[in-house]
Amino acid sequence: MEEIKKSRRKKRWIISICTIGIILCLGVSGWLVWAYEQHPQQITKVKKTEHRIKSKIKSASKGTSQVKAASESKDVPKEKPKTKRAPTNHNEAADSWTFKVEQVREDMKGPVNPDKPKVVFLTFDDGPSSNDTPQVLNILAEHNVHATFFLVGNRITPETQALVQQEYDSGHGIAVHSFTHDYKILYPNNVPNAQAILDEANKTRDLMKSFLGDKFDTRVWRYPGGTMSWKNLDESKSLLEKDNFTWMDWNAADGDGLGASAPKTVQAALNYHAMSLTVYPQSNVEIILMHDASDKQVTVQALPEIIKYYKDRDYQFGILE
Ligand SMILES: [Zn+2]
Repeated sequence: MEEIKKSRRKKRWIISICTIGIILCLGVSGWLVWAYEQHPQQITKVKKTEHRIKSKIKSASKGTSQVKAASESKDVPKEKPKTKRAPTNHNEAADSWTFKVEQVREDMKGPVNPDKPKVVFLTFDDGPSSNDTPQVLNILAEHNVHATFFLVGNRITPETQALVQQEYDSGHGIAVHSFTHDYKILYPNNVPNAQAILDEANKTRDLMKSFLGDKFDTRVWRYPGGTMSWKNLDESKSLLEKDNFTWMDWNAADGDGLGASAPKTVQAALNYHAMSLTVYPQSNVEIILMHDASDKQVTVQALPEIIKYYKDRDYQFGILE
């Protein structure tokens, strides 16, 4: 009887030892996995050091310890930490065709510098719209050129949001053109309301950020009507600047913003465009005002010809940042 009890106790003893052993093993391996996920380089370092010691022992036994140790004690070159790309109004692929607004504004004043490249900026205001914007995007893709879209916040809806995402993903620039585009709110009695303008700029930018994500930000702002249409913009300009906005006008157009007197045919739009080039100072940059709002079919039809005009004259196609 006593014998049986003893052997049972022994069995229980062995089982407990084994269980503790298994728990310890699981614990240690769990810790290793956790530690590797937290600090993979350090674990790798430990492994490398282990490997080095092993190979030192090996080479020592071969009599080449000094040569090997010298070469192996050299620090493994550290990987350069990747500098995080600052949030901006275009994707990384578009970095190479991006130009700073301040520089372009300076270049617009002219004169032509034959030693510098010629750059054209196709700009589309008042979008997105579900009928014109996709057509404009298709034409730009077909001709492998890029543009800057000046968006109106209240036209970014669940329906059109994907178009803005497509603009961003396709390497175009995203800019702000107010939230309401309502002159009565932005310029009541033709007087700029600096606070209303700033609020609309921020509201639109925040909306863009909400679905384009942390990598997105934009500084580029265009006044509805352009700065040339309004007096006393100084207060507004300085408010915008404080919130990291900078404004951009244009020095060419296809006339599609002229309401009833807008060109009705492609040829008329091209004629208007050619005429507009003579109005502003001659310079290395052309910033063309066009619209991708829903009623701008003449622009959609004229766009391939406008692109051809600048390709024939060896212009680069830039976007504004
Ligand atoms: Zn507009």
